[in-house]
Amino acid sequence: MPTYTDSVLYQAKRQELVNQLRKAGITNEKVLAAINAVPRHYFLDSAFEHFAYENRAFNIASGQTISQPYTVAHQSALLNIAKFDKVLEIGTGSGYQACILAELGAFVHTIERQKVLFEQTSKFAFIKQKYPTIKLYYGDGYLGLPKLAPFDKVIVTAGAPFIPPALVEQLKPGGIMVIPVGEDDKQQMLKIVKNADGTYEHTITGSFTFVPMLEGTGKQQ
Ligand code: SAH
Repeated sequence: MPTYTDSVLYQAKRQELVNQLRKAGITNEKVLAAINAVPRHYFLDSAFEHFAYENRAFNIASGQTISQPYTVAHQSALLNIAKFDKVLEIGTGSGYQACILAELGAFVHTIERQKVLFEQTSKFAFIKQKYPTIKLYYGDGYLGLPKLAPFDKVIVTAGAPFIPPALVEQLKPGGIMVIPVGEDDKQQMLKIVKNADGTYEHTITGSFTFVPMLEGTGKQQ
């Protein structure tokens, strides 16, 4: 169990991480402030807690990972979150990315396909109390959440072999989707902007490594 207390030491480490991200090219000050505001050590097993502010990914339950802070900052910056944006996240995992988006003022609807992780993150009191604007769902992210569509923004935090059509459909015209696309352990981070006629443009913003986006719900297939 992580320790749910912040400390001067952890605050200093968080500030150091923010400085590191700035040097690595993250320029969006709102995103940097959000990284500074959310205690990442709450999201890790206590065994890794002391490394929480290193720019590294870590294992969480069910063979999944909490993304590297640089990746979280990069994806969050690409989304260009405005206050009250309705955001769909695929891959809740630890809930850390969802908290960063909520800290930026978004209403976050986040889907996880692993039951154990979904239940664990749903029970996490810090998220419930601090970010009641986050709603968690158990399901297959390939399908999105059609009943709640359209969304201003969509973020996928698992490596997708292709762009899931349902997610583009559920994006508002003018909306932004950020998704790592590619097989195996290398994905290109795409920023997709949907046009008024339903077509979309994409730009490639760098190479990343994610756990795979799998179809259906349950264990690894
Ligand atoms: N955003 C997370 C990162 C989690 S890693 C965080 O901040 O911690 C990616 C997550 O995507 C894993 O938990 C994995 O189980 C989940 N995932 C993979 N395919 C999925 C799908 N089709 N639908 C929903 N979640 C999926």
